[in-house]
Amino acid sequence: MTYALLSVTDKRGIGDLARGLAQRGYKLLSTGGTMKAIQDAGVEVENISAYTGFPEMLDGRVKTLHPKVHGGLLYRRDLEDHVKTVKDHGIESIDLVVCNLYDFEGHLEKQAPHEEMIENIDIGGPSMIRSAAKNYQSVYVLTDPEDYEDVFKAMDGEIDDKAFRERLAMKAFSTTAYYDAMISRYMQDRLGEKAKTLTLGLKKVSDLRYGENPHQKAARYRDPMVDSYYKSIQQYQGKELSFNNLNDLNTALELVMEFKDPACVALKHATPCGVAKADTVYQAYEKAFEADSLSIFGGVVAFNQEVDGKTAEKMVEIFLEVVAAPSFSDQALEAFKKKPNLRVLQFDPKKQTASMDIKFTSGDFIIQEKDKLAHTDWKTVTKKEASPQEIKDLEFAELVCKYARSNAVVVVKDGQTLGIGGGQTSRIWALESIQTHHKDRDFTGAVLASDAFFPFDDCVKLAAKMGIKAIVQPGGSIRDEDSIKVCDQEGMAMIFTNTRHFRH
Ligand code: 5GP
Repeated sequence: MTYALLSVTDKRGIGDLARGLAQRGYKLLSTGGTMKAIQDAGVEVENISAYTGFPEMLDGRVKTLHPKVHGGLLYRRDLEDHVKTVKDHGIESIDLVVCNLYDFEGHLEKQAPHEEMIENIDIGGPSMIRSAAKNYQSVYVLTDPEDYEDVFKAMDGEIDDKAFRERLAMKAFSTTAYYDAMISRYMQDRLGEKAKTLTLGLKKVSDLRYGENPHQKAARYRDPMVDSYYKSIQQYQGKELSFNNLNDLNTALELVMEFKDPACVALKHATPCGVAKADTVYQAYEKAFEADSLSIFGGVVAFNQEVDGKTAEKMVEIFLEVVAAPSFSDQALEAFKKKPNLRVLQFDPKKQTASMDIKFTSGDFIIQEKDKLAHTDWKTVTKKEASPQEIKDLEFAELVCKYARSNAVVVVKDGQTLGIGGGQTSRIWALESIQTHHKDRDFTGAVLASDAFFPFDDCVKLAAKMGIKAIVQPGGSIRDEDSIKVCDQEGMAMIFTNTRHFRH
């Protein structure tokens, strides 16, 4: 007699599967709730307690944790010794397992109390899945209703049975790996500082068409602890989101949501190219566009407030890849239809951004906390103080600078970026690139932020030549005095923040 053991929280499709298995001569074993669902479908099934001779106990904490279950899954069918052992102990062969786990993730989403979270840590399920998966050469392990149909095809030889079993096992281990990682992430979140380490639990959302380039395979994963902008995205129109879009959106949304006034971020290759705030969304877009009317082409544009029809009409004049905003007026949505390929995305501005930042290396993932702007320790180091308007622009510049690639310097005037120099291997080149790319621009009265200290006074000298009046930077170079001296000579203000904002 060959047994199949079914124990599922997600009971979708379980009746049909049970019927199919019974028709093929499997004797069905099951736990309480699953047994009821199978019986309701009119299929005969035996309670696992009757088989083990042990009741379900401790409020279901112990149901299938029994040698008659794990022995029946794990024994090697090709070893005489194993076959004899199970026979001696009255253990039957269990050749198929159907199991999905207590819904820890669902309880996370509804932020259930801790007690309830603990009760929703499945113990017997993962154990059973792992036993079955280890012995996949003899046992089918079904952890996903999507695979229920294929198991019959595999049994009938319509698809490669060996490869199918192995694929099920692979999926099973990734299921339990994710499950435990998610529990660990939850506990890390509760512990906060006391966790002393960062853990990661990633769930696959989907495959992507390709990666940064068409010849690179790619997929999208999600951190279960983050109720993020990404999770809330609703796409009105346009092509599927690509790897590059998703990567760009990360910076665009986080940056734009730093502002309270209507703001617009235009971004290309994960680097902001035009950022502005204004009284209206329309003005913010105009200013962000004017900030760099070349780079915005093919870019991502994000807003922190509703986009109206007038702004949308203006936007469809040029080629853009993605527009994202908390909401769109009906007229705006109508206007975007003129560009059917344009991806129009709505996101929930109340959601959080991830607390962790993950970077890829060729072997490891490196994880860090997100860079949060600590605007606490500003200290003027020059004779000249920055004016209140300059302070506002300096704050704006520092914010944008945090999101530009290092080495980064950002020039701002009246809530508009006049130049973003980023991704340079030398700090002076970052400023020189602004000067060259916007050579006809008047920088008089603008301010400048730098993501790290000035190793020499060359940037300050160039800033003075350009007409820049105030600078904010972390400070901390052994040549700080040289930079301060130039500011004093030129009548410029300089503020130290003590906080570096590298972004690579
Ligand atoms: P049922 O709804 O059939 O009563 O319970 C099904 C769930 O119980 C499945 O999600 C399965 O993973 C889980 N389960 C099976 N055996 C055990 C066990 O021994 N301990 C615990 N905690 N959960 C189990």
